Amino acid sequence: MGEAAYKRILLKMSGEVLEGTQGFGIDPSVVKRLAKEIVDVHKLGVEIGIVIGGGNIFRGVSGSKQGLDRVTGDYMGMLATLINCLSLQDAIEKEGVPTRVMSAIEVKEVAEPFIKRRAVRHLEKGRIVIFGAGTGNPFFTTDTAAALRAIEINAQVLLKATKVDGVYTADPVKVKGAELLKEVDYMTVLKHGLKVMDSTAISLSMDNSLDIIVFNIKKEGNLLRVVKGEKIGTKVIK
Ligand code: UDP
Repeated sequence: MGEAAYKRILLKMSGEVLEGTQGFGIDPSVVKRLAKEIVDVHKLGVEIGIVIGGGNIFRGVSGSKQGLDRVTGDYMGMLATLINCLSLQDAIEKEGVPTRVMSAIEVKEVAEPFIKRRAVRHLEKGRIVIFGAGTGNPFFTTDTAAALRAIEINAQVLLKATKVDGVYTADPVKVKGAELLKEVDYMTVLKHGLKVMDSTAISLSMDNSLDIIVFNIKKEGNLLRVVKGEKIGTKVIK
């Protein structure tokens, strides 16, 4: 186990993290860096599940604002997450760690179906498991999928990787003097609509006492720091 504070984690990365500075799609150099950081965590003996979003490619809500049927748009979003999964899978395996992509919708030539017991077995065998296609249902988000998978695989913590340092009292871009919170409870997040995850994801985490740490993955080495128990970002607790 080495210096890790956790035995099993669920890492949630939004699709936007993969796009780097290009504003859309996948930046291979970013994916490579992330893969290296994930493998560094794996080297500590930590079992790693990953949920990746699809917002760098497609979001159902944005599609529906332009007239696309919402459910169709959501399925497009779910398929987008699979593209990201494959990209990350390739990059992680190039770093020498075996992975499995498990999908919530059947795409059997591309990925295994998600079966909880199989996922846990993969983790126990030291494979990094990347969960694709969100929850498999429209009107949900990959944040909810992350909370769901974290609870299903018994992860000790959900690490929510973002482009900002954590949770603020208000939007730091718009509000001068907005403060970074070290800790915040689920109810406060829900009541004040703080930008952590959507309310479905927060409620699910709250009901199942799943700890969440929101941290900035753009800063190199942060993922390893969080896993080692360094107090960076914001911890969301009961
Ligand atoms: N999505 C969905 N059900 C899910 C997860 C995702 O319908 O369980 C769709 C939804 O359209 C969403 C898109 O997939 O907008 C991409 O996921 P998300 O927006 O969560 O990605 P992120 O913002 O994390 O990149």
